[in-house]
Amino acid sequence: MTPAELDLIARAERLTRDIVIPHVAQWEHERRIGHEGVHAAAAIGLTRLQVPVDQGGLGMSFACKARVAEVLAAGDFGFTMSLINTQNIAAKLARDASPAIAARYVADIVAGRRFGCTALSEPGAGSDFAAITTLATPCEGGWRINGAKAWIANAVQADVVVLYAQTQAGSGGRGIACFVVDGTRAGFEREPAFQLGGQHTIGTGGFRLDNYLAHPDEMLHPPGQAFKAAMNSINGARTYIAAMCCGMVGEALRVVSEYGEQRNSFGKALADHQGWRWRLAEAASELAACRLMVAHTATLIDARADAQLAAAQTKLLATRMADRQLPILAQAMGAEGLRERHPFARHLMGARVAGFVDGSTEMLLERICAVMRPGKA
Ligand SMILES: Cc1cc2nc3c(=O)[nH]c(=O)nc-3n(C[C@H](O)[C@H](O)[C@H](O)COP(=O)(O)OP(=O)(O)OC[C@H]3O[C@@H](n4cnc5c(N)ncnc54)[C@H](O)[C@@H]3O)c2cc1C
Repeated sequence: MTPAELDLIARAERLTRDIVIPHVAQWEHERRIGHEGVHAAAAIGLTRLQVPVDQGGLGMSFACKARVAEVLAAGDFGFTMSLINTQNIAAKLARDASPAIAARYVADIVAGRRFGCTALSEPGAGSDFAAITTLATPCEGGWRINGAKAWIANAVQADVVVLYAQTQAGSGGRGIACFVVDGTRAGFEREPAFQLGGQHTIGTGGFRLDNYLAHPDEMLHPPGQAFKAAMNSINGARTYIAAMCCGMVGEALRVVSEYGEQRNSFGKALADHQGWRWRLAEAASELAACRLMVAHTATLIDARADAQLAAAQTKLLATRMADRQLPILAQAMGAEGLRERHPFARHLMGARVAGFVDGSTEMLLERICAVMRPGKA
């Protein structure tokens, strides 16, 4: 990585320690996005990490983004999801939208004045993305969009939405187009925030489109190309989610390692009991393997090589590693690990969310099978 990228990662680490970790319990109590953290992140450039340099961004590598995701998720998975999702919209519009559309939104998102989100999922379609029913119908002046989106990160606040809609009912992936939707315009109706078991810092929710009018230049990808565009960007998403799983396990390991040196049982430190410390050795080894997979997949993505298989395998193993190791590390803390000031309960829920977003574990297995058995799976 370049010195500028390493410097950004160091700043992200400080943001995690100084702002995310001290505030995340309050954000979760208040069931909201960590705006203070997002604004601080914007101030150090994290909302424009992948926006091209000629459009005011940092134009940094995917490897840098994955590392930033890891260090932020050490503090909170949900905060990182919210921040990365809004950054993704700034980068996408800078890259794929007309100069006029980019000028309308990118600077505001980068400054943290507006939030972005990506809306594929619907109340009736999650894994089966090609089955979405939100319908875009051509009309005088553009497209009328009707339907509902659900389970969208940042939906409680975002008003710059990259939205996927069907243009011809029943045509599957071929008919899907991609639009930029402005949440301040008529026809956009936000649903109340979803009340979950945790991870409210993601700002998960949904919205309805009721005869919303999208202008012709607000179609980012026409039918025939949008489905492919969504699938192309998913390799990156799978890889940074894997990095976030590494961040959560790394932080849990750090906390439990420190605790094990201080807490005594049966006349010696917990860490002096072989059975206790072996758990940490197992977690550290699995974490090291997953970090290597993330680094390898990030290299493929930066080289624009085929990362489909590597991204699916990396997310599959990193989410499983987090799902397995976080309860083990929480157990090693004893009752102390249940305190809110420690990350275990939050990270456990983060790992659960990681198992669904950007391709559930089962969909990853299907993707891996499809690559292993071309033309058959
Ligand atoms: C907190 C959160 C944030 C999210 N953010 C976004 C976002 O920003 N944008 C967005 O578009 N979506 C988002 N999602 C939605 C996410 O992409 C979906 O949850 C995911 O695609 C799975 O869909 P589903 O939950 O509807 O599960 P379903 O599709 O209903 O599946 C239920 C279960 O069955 C399994 N399953 C389904 N089909 C098969 C099959 N053929 N074979 C074997 N098993 C199968 C699934 O893996 C899953 O375990 C978010 C979800 C969460 C929880």
